[in-house]
Amino acid sequence: MSEASVLRAGFPLLAANPGLHYLDSAATAQIHRAALDAVVCHETLSRANVLRGSHRLAEAADQAFDAARRRVARFLNANSAEEVIFTSGATAALNLVAHAFGATLRPGDRVLISQAEHHSNFVPWQMLRDRAGIELDLLPVTASGELDPAALPRLLSARTRLVAVTQCSNVTGAWTDVAAIVAAARRVGAKVLLDGAQAVQHGPQDVRALGIDFYAFSGHKCFGPGGVGVLWGKAEVLAALPPFLGGGGMIDEVAPQRSTWAELPRRFEAGTPPIAQAVGLASALDWMMALDWTDIHARETRLGAQAIEGLLRIPGVRLLGPAGTAARAPIISFDIAGLHPHDVCQVLDHHQLALRGGHHCAQPLLAALGVDACARASFALYNDEADVAALIDGVAAAVRTLA
Ligand code: PLP
Repeated sequence: MSEASVLRAGFPLLAANPGLHYLDSAATAQIHRAALDAVVCHETLSRANVLRGSHRLAEAADQAFDAARRRVARFLNANSAEEVIFTSGATAALNLVAHAFGATLRPGDRVLISQAEHHSNFVPWQMLRDRAGIELDLLPVTASGELDPAALPRLLSARTRLVAVTQCSNVTGAWTDVAAIVAAARRVGAKVLLDGAQAVQHGPQDVRALGIDFYAFSGHKCFGPGGVGVLWGKAEVLAALPPFLGGGGMIDEVAPQRSTWAELPRRFEAGTPPIAQAVGLASALDWMMALDWTDIHARETRLGAQAIEGLLRIPGVRLLGPAGTAARAPIISFDIAGLHPHDVCQVLDHHQLALRGGHHCAQPLLAALGVDACARASFALYNDEADVAALIDGVAAAVRTLA
């Protein structure tokens, strides 16, 4: 059995559908059995609310939830578990920063995002600009859709308070040169937020080595359950921010006239958090941490290269993003002259190929690349050469059928 088949066997949906070529992991990766089992086990044996009860089930839930936070902190190499805030996903994490950090900004302060952002790291900043009177700057992309570091010096100033960019594009797979962004941001005293939504399924992260202030990601993109995500923030940065959502769990004391806030991380977790989902996410991350990522990266890169080479042999196919595989995750978006990606993806579905077609919630990036929509094949650790071969045959068949 190949390494990919061994890994694939750990994913119940893939095991139940042996003929399926699942190439939509950038939208949602499949859930690993370890995560699913952890959710079922928690809900079956320890289901109770957290931070509220004194019975033994409530204590078990508290312990599981606290342990989940420590396990996420380990995956991120965070300084402490209190830096990990559970949210409903990356979108909620990014909106949390836009509100809590945004509340510290004054009219005339500036936030820099890039043209390659997912709408989740675009729209919250536009909304902040409109309610707080800040300025929003846009780092342009190069012809291949990569963030253009050459534009940084003219876009950064002493008024720039935050640089918020993606770690990896969900359209082109291009990796951001985080070190260059962090160095430039530090020169003007700005904080750095990294949207890690697309990076986490490609291995454990080290937020300390990245040198950033905030990191956001979703559980469903890293083999965990849906409905849970994480905002990591440096303790001293988070501690200086006001809460975003008010409610149970995030207060120290509530009096008729005013309330005071809980310490980290509870200050940012109003209401009942996604408890079982956090436990499931922690199990997915533990499973990932035990893998050999050197081998997995080599295979993901090889599959990406084979897919690019095969697709470019098909008449009319144009690749979006960097030409090679060195600077990109295995996310391959392409346009076929004269064909709409929705039609292409529908034909591919008949060939047991699951791909996403559309604007991928990145309309500003697609505009820069000169398309309204494109098809996207995204590979994860359970994909293999058979998936690449099926993709190339399927796209060639779609061109024959639709042209
Ligand atoms: N950021 C990036 C780069 C993404 O690709 C996505 C989802 O595709 C998100 C943010 C938003 O993630 P979610 O919808 O899980 O909140």
